Amino acid sequence: MGAPKIIVAIDGYSSCGKSTLAKELAAKLGYNYIDSGAMYRAITLYFLHNSVNLKDHAEILDALANIHLGFTFNENTQRSEICLNDENVEHQVRDMIVAEKVSEVAAIKEVRAFAVGQQKRMGRKKGIVMDGRDIGTVVFPDAELKIFMTAEPDIRVKRRFEELYATNPNITLDEVKHNLELRDYIDSNREESPLRKADDAILLDNSSMSREEQLEQVLGWVKERVSNEVA
Ligand code: C5P
Repeated sequence: MGAPKIIVAIDGYSSCGKSTLAKELAAKLGYNYIDSGAMYRAITLYFLHNSVNLKDHAEILDALANIHLGFTFNENTQRSEICLNDENVEHQVRDMIVAEKVSEVAAIKEVRAFAVGQQKRMGRKKGIVMDGRDIGTVVFPDAELKIFMTAEPDIRVKRRFEELYATNPNITLDEVKHNLELRDYIDSNREESPLRKADDAILLDNSSMSREEQLEQVLGWVKERVSNEVA
């Protein structure tokens, strides 16, 4: 029998590098990585394509009944990518049109119940790293390791700008800054599962940490938690 597997829940503000850390950690541990934000983005994409009225709860429930979300592993990029009704939409969900709407969609009660139910099922066998906004508070309140990430706002804007600029040279720094501020505001102030640090989460400010340092730090925490499981 191998080492016991745990659940790692990573939450935090937009563009703190949560998914970069989560992905690297999952690869090192041989765990599954789930990008819960991609699920909210795919739902938003479907709502946009089908002009779903965000004020009409019956329409929202009908739309959700037609949505099937999944992840597929891309051997070339070594990443798991989001699929909406069996179509790989990993690139489309990163579009600014989706980013501008996603926090509004993610604040809807029915949308959260739909996504959270699936996320909980994905963690049944443990051995999972999931990042998002409510993973340590709502999805996996019993996760063995919870991390709440943050970084200075200017650093986050710069990181997200560089990422988006690679595929969209028309994007401006101001546009990115505005979007991050708006999403953080809506995510932190919504009624349904607002973004907040779980009491038992470890705060990780990576403003002046390299990716390698950060990964080493977190691998140390995982090791500790796994040995607690054995003891
Ligand atoms: O992680 P990412 O920035 O791709 O998430 C996009 C949006 O999805 C967030 O701004 C937030 O509104 C929503 N989200 C959420 N709960 C999660 C993950 C993401 O509400 N667990």
